Amino acid sequence: MTEWMGLYPDELKEKLAEMNEKPFRAGQIFSWLHKGAHFDEMTNLPLALREKLRQEGVDQPVVIQEEHVSRLDGTRKFLYALEDGNCVEGVLMRYHYGCTLCLSTQVGCRMGCRFCASTLDGCVRNLTAAEMLGQVQCANRVLGDERVHNIVLMGSGEPLDNYDQVVRFLRLVSHPDGLNIGLRHISLSTCGLVPQMRRFAEEGLPVTLSLSLHAPNDAIRRRLMPIADRYTISETLDACRYYIEKTGRRVVLEYALVDQVNADEACAEELSAILRGMQCHVNLIPLNTVRERNLYGVSEKQVQAFLNVLEKRHISATRRREMGDDIEGACGQLRKKVMQEGKA
Ligand code: SAH
Repeated sequence: MTEWMGLYPDELKEKLAEMNEKPFRAGQIFSWLHKGAHFDEMTNLPLALREKLRQEGVDQPVVIQEEHVSRLDGTRKFLYALEDGNCVEGVLMRYHYGCTLCLSTQVGCRMGCRFCASTLDGCVRNLTAAEMLGQVQCANRVLGDERVHNIVLMGSGEPLDNYDQVVRFLRLVSHPDGLNIGLRHISLSTCGLVPQMRRFAEEGLPVTLSLSLHAPNDAIRRRLMPIADRYTISETLDACRYYIEKTGRRVVLEYALVDQVNADEACAEELSAILRGMQCHVNLIPLNTVRERNLYGVSEKQVQAFLNVLEKRHISATRRREMGDDIEGACGQLRKKVMQEGKA
């Protein structure tokens, strides 16, 4: 099955040529697909062509299977169904500057971070670029007149472990004839795959790189994230510096505060020391407690104390707002719940 939406305009042209169709149709089809149209809505295409397209592939590879709206802040959580029966989730948050969509890049994840629900059953498969675009279109349809304004690749999956399809997605979603979402409005979050971070720095894509750091030293990081056995923090921050140098953009460092593990003031001091002089911003978030693993979040007071140290040391930092707390807003939690209910 061809996922038409995942093709670049030139590839669409080639496909059409193989089907003995006129190349100028590629532009029409591209803009219809990226508007989220079904084949039968593509009214400037001959009926016979629409039928051929349908026989060869799909127009919309993702549909919303469940939608939950937070009573606290209007955040929406989606469970999307894919063509092969798998599902992934996404979150749509409304901020004063526009809507932000949190996208998944894989079904599950194989990075094994101990605090993360997405990784519990490993990685089932990579998502295609078309399936990532499909998530944006589903959200746009729900929004009506509004549009997704920002995208964060922070749903399930490790984006840099699905490198080619993620880069394809970034080029397509920012295409002027497509959804045309500015790359500067997109953040890619990684647990720290160092070689891919360096390669990504050279793609010429000005997205914001976020690194899930979560620890001020390797010993603590290894307790939380298996990736820390492969790359040291020093190598990982070097890759961040390379990204800054190549793109001119500051890097965001995510730091989930875990009680008794990485959240005391000594950790804040150590973190400040390793980040000194780096063009970065620290995003603090209290861990969403994971009882199965004995990992617990922290109090507001602890967050503030940690922040105060960073401020004193002139490290730019904020506390990330939690949204959708009542709808399994965090990464992988809804899919996990639905899968468990399915098994039960
Ligand atoms: N694989 C990528 C992106 C997906 S996870 C990455 O690791 O960055 C998005 C963010 O949510 C990451 O910073 C991740 O560490 C964080 N996260 C996962 N589980 C969490 C939890 N229980 N509490 C707080 N943050 C969590």
